[in-house]
Amino acid sequence: MPDLLDTRLPSADNASLEYTPAQMAAMGEAVVARAVQHLASLDRQPSRGDVDAAELCRALREPIPETGTPLGPVLDHLFDELIPRSFTTPGPGYLAYIPGGGVYPAALADFIADTTNRYTGVWQASPALVQLEANVLDWLRDWMGFPPGASGLLTSGGSMATLNAILCARERHLGTEIRRGTLYVSDQGHHCIEKAAKLAGIFHDRVRLVPSDAAFRMRTDTLAAMIAEDRAAGLQPFLVASSAGTTNTGAVDPLTDIADLCAREAMWHHVDGAYGAFFHAVPALRPLLDGLPRADSLTLDPHKGMFLPYGTGALLVRDGEALRAVHAATAGYLPAQQSEFYDPSQYGPELSRGFPGLRVWMALKLAGAARYRAAIAEKRDLAVWAAERVARIPGVVMDAWPQLSLFAFHLEGSRLTTLDAQNAATAELMERVTRRGRVMLTGCTVQGRHLARICVLSFRTRRAEMEACVSQITDETRDLLA
Ligand SMILES: *Cc1c(COP(=O)(O)O)cnc(C)c1O
Repeated sequence: MPDLLDTRLPSADNASLEYTPAQMAAMGEAVVARAVQHLASLDRQPSRGDVDAAELCRALREPIPETGTPLGPVLDHLFDELIPRSFTTPGPGYLAYIPGGGVYPAALADFIADTTNRYTGVWQASPALVQLEANVLDWLRDWMGFPPGASGLLTSGGSMATLNAILCARERHLGTEIRRGTLYVSDQGHHCIEKAAKLAGIFHDRVRLVPSDAAFRMRTDTLAAMIAEDRAAGLQPFLVASSAGTTNTGAVDPLTDIADLCAREAMWHHVDGAYGAFFHAVPALRPLLDGLPRADSLTLDPHKGMFLPYGTGALLVRDGEALRAVHAATAGYLPAQQSEFYDPSQYGPELSRGFPGLRVWMALKLAGAARYRAAIAEKRDLAVWAAERVARIPGVVMDAWPQLSLFAFHLEGSRLTTLDAQNAATAELMERVTRRGRVMLTGCTVQGRHLARICVLSFRTRRAEMEACVSQITDETRDLLA
């Protein structure tokens, strides 16, 4: 009887990389056991692991291992030494930045995608599997209220989706006259927009930062004036990138006003919904994102609002032809193009790729859309519940109430006589609460003021974490202001 946990490759045949079926089953079981044990203990893990790990990183450097190691010690090393040295992003207490998720069916889908390793870059190689990805894009399109002619693309994240959106708009409006084009984004827009613009050949001297109002939303009057000024200078305003939920404070830009303006100006309206778009899946919350379905393109991040593991972004483009026009390509060694079915390589920059569609499909298929909508709605309810209580804590000044599921505030007190002192106390509050280990919070700096922020978007965050969060903020604020 061979030792099933001896997962080394056969020594008699040193050119083989194949494991026996029994080994594969044992290895799979060992991984699942560790992963499930990890998930089951998430609520007891510190919300922020010890990430002061420069020494560890230096110690980890090693030359290419010449011979193999059994799986057991490798798993021990990963799960015991490395994984805990990180932010506990899948944990229920992760209220920092924009939380993600990691629903279990997605991991199973990735396992299936990786073991069966079918080629989903071109439709002909696995038509039925590519159809599942096409279904997923149709489902996202329906949730976002986009028309049937819209098309989309699964990307590795929101940044890549944004890059593709800017490329569509550039191709549609500027052709080869790239240097004439100007792009507009609010001073609260995500930095990936400027980065994507640069990657798309729209350099900083053609990017305009539009000021935001007291609620951190893009000022459309100023936007209109900036567009007029650029036109008068002989430039060609071609794209406005607005936010459906900013990372700093969760602000939703006036999407309808911007859509109207873009229609009048014959410009492309891109909406960055990486954080907020999935709230549109809940009919009762659609008024919060009024105008979103009118966007020419929309960045979505299923690894945030659909609680999927990192590496799942998405783009929707109202005129699917615009997306195809940028990416369609052919070669003598590829199958002839067809037009009836969705083909990832004709709508995106990649050829060989993983199979991101399966994880989205499997997650929705197993849970059902109704449960997703309920989970998304609950995250907003939890944020509203917590904001009402945090706002009543003496010394707390609310800067942004939750428009979606994120709110921001700062501390003031008789002893905090300067902006610097208020900023330091507000940052210290985030740090102290995080150090307690139950929830992880991060702040941000907006126009010189440091803001505390709480963002609820992990599917594992429930009422218990929010109660702990509010009570710890109450205690630490009292302590800091005493
Ligand atoms: C996360 C985020 C992005 C960037 O998306 P990635 O998936 O991290 O590349 C862009 N905009 C907003 C508002 C975000 O929250």
